[in-house]
Amino acid sequence: MNVLNKEYQQLEENIQTLSEKWSKSLEKDTLTTPEQRLAIKSFPAIPHLHITINVEQYNRFIEEFFTLLEESQPSLTEQFNKIRRLLTNEILEKWFTEAVSVNNFYFEKLAKDHGIAEWLPFFIAEHAARPFLQKLSSELSEQLHQANAQGACPACGEPPRIGVINKSGKKELTCPRCLYSWQIKKITCAHCGCEEPGKIEILKIEKDERGEVYVCHQCKGYTKVIDTRKLIKLDPIPLLDIKSIHLDYIAQENGFGIPEMKGTH
Ligand SMILES: [Zn+2]
Ligand SMILES: [Zn+2]
Repeated sequence: MNVLNKEYQQLEENIQTLSEKWSKSLEKDTLTTPEQRLAIKSFPAIPHLHITINVEQYNRFIEEFFTLLEESQPSLTEQFNKIRRLLTNEILEKWFTEAVSVNNFYFEKLAKDHGIAEWLPFFIAEHAARPFLQKLSSELSEQLHQANAQGACPACGEPPRIGVINKSGKKELTCPRCLYSWQIKKITCAHCGCEEPGKIEILKIEKDERGEVYVCHQCKGYTKVIDTRKLIKLDPIPLLDIKSIHLDYIAQENGFGIPEMKGTH
């Protein structure tokens, strides 16, 4: 079951491919020092790390992202040129930091000040930051496994919204931003931790035998869960998240939502 139009889905698949290429190019780098890793005491860990990245690399990701987006929407070129003129090394560093902490306010103001579409700067900054977030979450995995992951991804702070029932029947949440994964008890709310069977309800979807929505009557939160046991090929989580948007519609139509990002500012 899929409610996305073909063009949009193709674009999302292209973004995924590009993102995997970026991640590969970071494979050999190490973004944290042993001292930094040992000093981690609070979660989400990444926004507190004050990472300095290679801004030229970040800029290259942004440029490649422009190229990809221009192919499907040539009318964006003018907007991209405006952004290009802004991106000094100093601003690139700022973009990375503000994207990591999801400072929408910063990006919306910047867009307004420079006559750029309001959604665009954050969208660009965020996508180009994700490979770094993914690299960081894998470098920090040892520390992250000790975190209490309730309500937010312990690596980047994103509220949990999608998980899978893995091949061994366990429920596993994966952050679509930084790809950190953690197991969670089946009947547990990923947002508030409620474990009362009567308060956690599983919405099944007609015509979709592998997608379910776990809703919580205590906090009104939900998570999408895909049963992968019958699947031969599993899409990468960011793509699965987008392709399962029909599950978000169902949850939201029933009055459930994803709590706002918290604890990163
Ligand atoms: Zn994350
Ligand atoms: Zn809850």
